[in-house]
Amino acid sequence: MVFKGRAARICNECVGEVGEQIKGKASSDGGKKSQVRHTDLVKSRVKEGIRKLSPYSVPHFKCRVKLDGNESPFHLPKEVEERVVREIRDIPINRYPDPDAATLREKISKITDFPIDGIVVGNGSDELIELLMITFSGGTGRVLYPVPTFSMFRITSVALGLEPIPVELDAKFDIDAKLMAREIKTKNPDLIFLASPNNPTGNRYSDDRIFEILKNSNGLVVLDEAYCDFSGKSFLPLIQQYENLIVLRTMSKVGFAGLRLGILFGRVEHVREINKVRLPYNVNSLSQRVAEVVLDRVGFVSERIQLINRERGRVYKELKIIRGVTAFPSDANFILFKVEDADGVFRGLIEKGVLVRNFNSPGRLENCLRVTIGTPDENNDFLRALREVLSS
Ligand code: PMP
Repeated sequence: MVFKGRAARICNECVGEVGEQIKGKASSDGGKKSQVRHTDLVKSRVKEGIRKLSPYSVPHFKCRVKLDGNESPFHLPKEVEERVVREIRDIPINRYPDPDAATLREKISKITDFPIDGIVVGNGSDELIELLMITFSGGTGRVLYPVPTFSMFRITSVALGLEPIPVELDAKFDIDAKLMAREIKTKNPDLIFLASPNNPTGNRYSDDRIFEILKNSNGLVVLDEAYCDFSGKSFLPLIQQYENLIVLRTMSKVGFAGLRLGILFGRVEHVREINKVRLPYNVNSLSQRVAEVVLDRVGFVSERIQLINRERGRVYKELKIIRGVTAFPSDANFILFKVEDADGVFRGLIEKGVLVRNFNSPGRLENCLRVTIGTPDENNDFLRALREVLSS
């Protein structure tokens, strides 16, 4: 029992056996050999793909200005916060959550004008990405996605023993239509993941190229619209037209990353299969209730999105005129930019209390950094710090 901690006792039946084992180890080699054997055993049982993976890690640096996570910089407004506190008090925490999150899905259905039976909520869209791969990989077992993109497409497919098929984006970070068509034809992937707007490049893909993929693919096409609130464009209504289209959204980027709430929209027949493998209580009662409160008051969220978009325009313009910086246009709540020495600039910014995300690695993202749009003051701090770092 977790609360007993060290005081917890091993059950009576096995206590003798374990005691003997411990004694045995202590007498021969102090337990070292069996420790080694155990480590080998673990290694040999870990899937090869997972052994080679490095974990999805976001390095933690304590900084005054945090612009590395594509989160919203805003806390809840006082009135909404008070409501949330009142609602949380009434949650029966001793009971399991509603396994179907029915009230929450109903609210999402009303807001989006999408049938409730086509909606699944998840513990972040991360979980929904995994659920899609678990459910729909029974054909070729291949998962295709353009790169550079969100790293979880690769990590999750490898973790599940699927074959990731990365396809390079073109010079403008748009889908390379020819290359994509060729790969779809030869590899016949079960799933194609398109993050649009894409992370970390920031741009939306051209509509006609997405349509091409929808028409050419025999598998499912998952449009990950995590950042669509900042682009104002969505493929959601097209699920009616394209039976192989799934749309993913999240509440993470517009102020509620801590709730871990992702939303999947698809055809009822797809959702039915996903629900067979979804863990029964995947969204906890607190997140469900808080999200319900927020969805009853979406006005403040829209205002903040508009503010972020205005700030994005301003930061982009400012970046464009800083010597030594190449900024890429963005439809999301962040901007990718290139400098001469990304590692140096990254460290310099941290010394000035500003944290961005460093994507520097050989290839398309060489010397690239990504800055999340914050409050006007935070953005000013970032721009000032960047100018100082580059001129020092
Ligand atoms: N998709 C994309 C494109 C993302 O950038 C992210 C977050 N970094 C996610 C999905 C995951 O979002 P969530 O917080 O809902 O798991």
